Amino acid sequence: MMRKALQKFQKKALQGKGLSYEEGCEFINLPDEYIFDILASGEKVRKHFKGDEINLCSIINAKSGLCPEDCAFCAQSAHYDTNVATYPMAEPQKILETAEAASKTGAREFSIVTSGTSVSKDKEIELLAQTLQEMRDTLPMERCASLGIMDAETLQRLKDAGLQSYHHNLETAGSFFPSICSTHDYEEDVNTVRTAKELGFHTCCGGIFGLGESGEQRVELAATLRELDVDSIPINFLNPRPGTPLENATNLTPIECLKIIALCRFMLPAKDIVICGGRQVNLRDMQCLIFAAGANGMMIGNYLTTPGRPPEEDLQMIRDWGLKPKK
Ligand code: SF4
Repeated sequence: MMRKALQKFQKKALQGKGLSYEEGCEFINLPDEYIFDILASGEKVRKHFKGDEINLCSIINAKSGLCPEDCAFCAQSAHYDTNVATYPMAEPQKILETAEAASKTGAREFSIVTSGTSVSKDKEIELLAQTLQEMRDTLPMERCASLGIMDAETLQRLKDAGLQSYHHNLETAGSFFPSICSTHDYEEDVNTVRTAKELGFHTCCGGIFGLGESGEQRVELAATLRELDVDSIPINFLNPRPGTPLENATNLTPIECLKIIALCRFMLPAKDIVICGGRQVNLRDMQCLIFAAGANGMMIGNYLTTPGRPPEEDLQMIRDWGLKPKK
């Protein structure tokens, strides 16, 4: 019975249609004993749309800490005592050096990430524009940024300077968001993604799982991302940070993580699915199965506030699975 349902889901995903909300709920509730069937299907759908190439990206935390928002999972919020490093916007030279080093390790996309609700329109935007222009002229990498809630005018200024992709996570389902953040509305995040999309950016938008959301709310987030027609879905798994309200949250199981990845692949079959923060802590020795679950991308190097493993280990994992980094 369950296997039949899975075959039906696989057929639909291979046709590029993606599961409905109801089918997504059925999928996320499949018992763990079906994980090998889920992985076999996820692998087929990923291969069909993405072949054997894995997209690697890397980031710099260009401005850290002191954020006025109160996202319950985030070590950078000024509302919590987390001992996170705090510093203002990095100079262009520092960002360029980090991007160049990431390029040498195999990353083809590089994202400049800043803490805070947004960035200031004068000095910070000008520094970022200068950095992006220099990146465009000197580095063969796709240029991405994650700068918080943005208006069209500011995004256009950055696009003119060379920004190609805008990253802005919705973090979780709209119905669960008020339990995670009380300092801004979900709609402000959705509108930022819509604006970036309208301006012709490649949009990178996903969330963080393991915050206490239900299976149905995971499906709700995937359905919202589909409605927004985002291009790339970064998936993060909670790595509980000391001092935040979620410091004692129970980690996801590796099988739950794999089912979340597969859910996104089946609901947004042709999109890029990129595994980011929390993968080592949550998946442990099962990290290599992210590709079978449907992922076709991963972040390498350090995460925002926690260290990643050496990129060579990730490259080896990709080769061992018979895959190759996208050029
Ligand atoms: S997730 Fe972003 S907006 Fe939320 S507290 Fe952290 S830095 Fe601020």
